[in-house]
Formats: sequence, structure tokens, C-alpha cells
Amino acid sequence: VKEQGRNGFSFYSPEMNDYVLGRLEVEQQLRGALEHNEFCMHYQPIYCLNRKKVIGAEALIRWNNPSLGLVSPEQFIPVAEQTGLILPIGEWIIREVCEQGVRWRHSLDEDYRIALNVSPRQFRDGQIVPVLLRIFEETGFDPSCLEIEITEGLLVRNDDSTAQTLSQLKSLGISLSMDDFGTGYSSLSYLKQFPFDVIKIDRTFVRDLADDPGDQQLVTAALAMAKGMGLKVIAEGVENQFQMDFLASAGCDALQGYYLGRPVTAEEFQEKIIPPAEF
Ligand code: C2E
Ligand code: CA
Ligand code: CA
Ligand code: CA
Repeated sequence: VKEQGRNGFSFYSPEMNDYVLGRLEVEQQLRGALEHNEFCMHYQPIYCLNRKKVIGAEALIRWNNPSLGLVSPEQFIPVAEQTGLILPIGEWIIREVCEQGVRWRHSLDEDYRIALNVSPRQFRDGQIVPVLLRIFEETGFDPSCLEIEITEGLLVRNDDSTAQTLSQLKSLGISLSMDDFGTGYSSLSYLKQFPFDVIKIDRTFVRDLADDPGDQQLVTAALAMAKGMGLKVIAEGVENQFQMDFLASAGCDALQGYYLGRPVTAEEFQEKIIPPAEF
């Protein structure tokens, strides 16, 4: 146990190579975080292989707390889900992203997309559609520039209201993307049941592409299947030229990863990423 911050403790976890903060401490600090302006959105470029340029970004939340320091979303998003804090935080994220999207409207291609992560809890309270509609109206953001990323966690319950919400989002012109594709148990059956437009191949399948023939086959098969279903494929976690070349020749549509660009602030994205990047 290592002391950290004024009144908190954190535990070292070797697998994560990171400090796992006490849950109560996270919860306590999270309650004041919106009010104290501790969140910030970062944007990671999504690079289109066909057009050889950046066609959008994934929005990723960052939390900098005075006593906890930078806390990874993998640590605080689950706490936000459990406590319901994800509802106000999620709404803040949507507004932030839509306001930014409007500012970028003229500097990005007309059909640019911003990808937004939405947690299952945000769906379950039944407010996601009205919240989105209100924010589109307030900001003037075009819903067809929004891609909503969801994970299997949402679909496991598979109730009518989930299906209904997803088709409402589609009818607003929003694209639906299955995040972390391949990591769950039922990705394939969900693709059949729900109106997805995009799959994002999880970075655990991209990581070892150079020396794992099994991963190569898996990615090739996933791409063939996605094409057959008329879906677009984005690969996550691209960190080197080998992965980029492999995914390009396998027919991937777009790439995301440190090799193409790390998540950066909106200002950095505007300065460094928007002027056409060539690879
Ligand atoms: P995710 O949706 O799968 O997001 C991709 C994660 O991979 C991000 O981590 C990103 O920084 C990281 N990444 C991108 N390229 C590379 C790469 O080349 N190599 C490696 N090793 N990692 C890469 P991040 O930002 O820490 O987010 C972690 C997770 O937290 C996200 O996973 C998502 O599930 C959740 N999250 C982040 N932002 C939000 C948000 O605004 N709302 C919600 N509900 N969840 C979020
Ligand atoms: Ca995501
Ligand atoms: Ca992902
Ligand atoms: Ca993930």
C-alpha cells in the first residue's frame, strides 16, 4: 500500500502497471468532479486507409483530480456507472463533443465522424435519446457526424427497449459501432440482431499480429464477415507499420492507434492533426 494524495491510499497492481485507487476515494472525488471542472475530452484520430487521411476522432474522457492525480477512465467509468454519476457526466461528455464537432465542421471533411463511448447505464435510464436531441438542438451539431460506440455489456440483457433505442438512434442518422469486437462471447449474434454500421476490432487482436498467425486469421476472418454484412471495420491499437500494412491489405477501412496518433486535447488535434496527415 502506497500513500497517495492527501487522504487516499492506492494499491499497486502489477498486471495493470498502475495504481488501483480505493473505490470509495474515487467515488468521493468523482462527486465533485463535474462541478470543479476536472474533466477534459481528448480526441484520437481515426485514419481512413482508402482516402489516406484523418476522417474523424474518438472522444475519450480524461479526469485530473487534485488529490488523485490523473485517473484512468478504466478506473472511474465503472464507479460512475455503479453510482449513477455517469448520467450527468455522460451528458457533459455529449455536450462537450457536440460543441467541439460544430467548431470542426469546416476544417474536417463534410462526412467526418466523432465517435462517442456510451455506457450501458446511460441507455438504461431511457433518457439518452431526449438528451441527445436537446443537445443537437442547443449546439447545432449534425447527428450524422456522430458514431456511438457500445460494448456487448449493453446488449446482454437484450430487452425490447435496448433494440428500440438503437433503432431510434439510427433513425436520427447516428452510426452505431460495436466496440471491442471479439472480446465478448456473443459479438456475432449481436451483429445479426442489432443495426450496427461499424465494428471496432479490439486492440488485443492487433497487438500480436506480427507473430501470431491465429490473430492474423481471426482478423482476416472478421474482416471478410464484416464485408459480407456490409459493415465498416476500424482496427484499434495500431502501434507499428507491420500492423498498419497487414490491416490495410486485409481490407480494413480505418485505423486508430498510437502509430497514427495518440489521444490529444481539442487544441492539439486542431493544430496537429487536422492539416492532412500523410502516412
Ligand atoms: P476504449 O473505448 O476501447 O478506448 C480505446 C482505448 O485504447 C483508449 O484508452 C485509448 O487511449 C487506448 N488506445 C488507443 N490507441 C492505442 C494504442 O495504439 N495502444 C494502446 N495500448 N492503447 C491505445 P483510454 O482513453 O484510457 O480509455 C479506456 C476505456 O475507458 C475506453 O476503452 C472506454 O471503454 C472508457 N472510456 C474512455 N472515455 C470514455 C467516455 O467518454 N465515456 C465512456 N462511457 N467511456 C469512456
Ligand atoms: Ca471506444
Ligand atoms: Ca475499444
Ligand atoms: Ca476497451
